[in-house]
Amino acid sequence: MSDAIFSAREVTIRFGGLVALDRVDIDVAAGEILAVIGPNGAGKSTLFNVITGIYAPSGGRVRFDGEDITGWQTHDIVMRGISRTFQASRLFSDLSVLDNVVIGLHTRTTTNVFEALCLPSRSRRELTWAAATATEILKRVGGDLYDRRYRRASELAQADRRRLEIARALAAKPKLLLLDEPTAGMDDRDTDALIEDIRRIKADRPEFAIIVVEHDMRLVASLPSRVVVLDYGRKIADAPFDVVRRDPRVQEAYLGQTEP
Ligand code: ADP
Ligand code: MG
Repeated sequence: MSDAIFSAREVTIRFGGLVALDRVDIDVAAGEILAVIGPNGAGKSTLFNVITGIYAPSGGRVRFDGEDITGWQTHDIVMRGISRTFQASRLFSDLSVLDNVVIGLHTRTTTNVFEALCLPSRSRRELTWAAATATEILKRVGGDLYDRRYRRASELAQADRRRLEIARALAAKPKLLLLDEPTAGMDDRDTDALIEDIRRIKADRPEFAIIVVEHDMRLVASLPSRVVVLDYGRKIADAPFDVVRRDPRVQEAYLGQTEP
């Protein structure tokens, strides 16, 4: 894909004898939503860990926005424009909802401790900016986040905790957002609401690309334009949802013999 903002080529990662990703090729165009599905242990979260520099791949290259980012440190990758949520929530439970998003803004602020002491007016300006920006993000993301912005993150319901993770990831103003099972633990109503939230976030920024790892077929069917299927670390399908759901290899690997 020539206009890809993101591409993985032959990405391979081994953990001892286990090949968790085996020569995986993935392209994402600017503005595209790609779903990555596959059974437990297929390598989906590992793929995100490689993209975000948590693991260096054993082989292959990762390119993003015109640069080869293979082997980069996580912080540099976030600065470059990729941010993510985690399958297991990583919020700061004792901090307020708003402060969790302010933390996500750190890549866009410049004040360090020294400057905060020596240049108080500049650091105050930056703090004011951060609080206002975080508040705007909470308004856009939806759920009860805005109304509960001064509550502790631990007080949020499960669906809002997931939303808050998304809000924090958005604070870095990514060009590519990675969502790892955003609807895990949600009922149908919350899932539908989250689908609407993702649509709205996406509509704000048409060039913004998303890779979503997901189990919920409802989300996969209603959001993305394209689906990649991983099985035992291999890519076994890469096609629109309607094609993938009829693919016998996919049905066997992932869905048993039943249609999704
Ligand atoms: P998925 O997200 O698709 O359920 P994962 O990417 O979490 O799967 O895991 C893929 C495979 O890699 C699994 O067999 C898992 O046990 C293994 N794995 C993941 N991370 C590590 C690690 N740090 N060390 C050893 N094995 C790992
Ligand atoms: Mg996973």
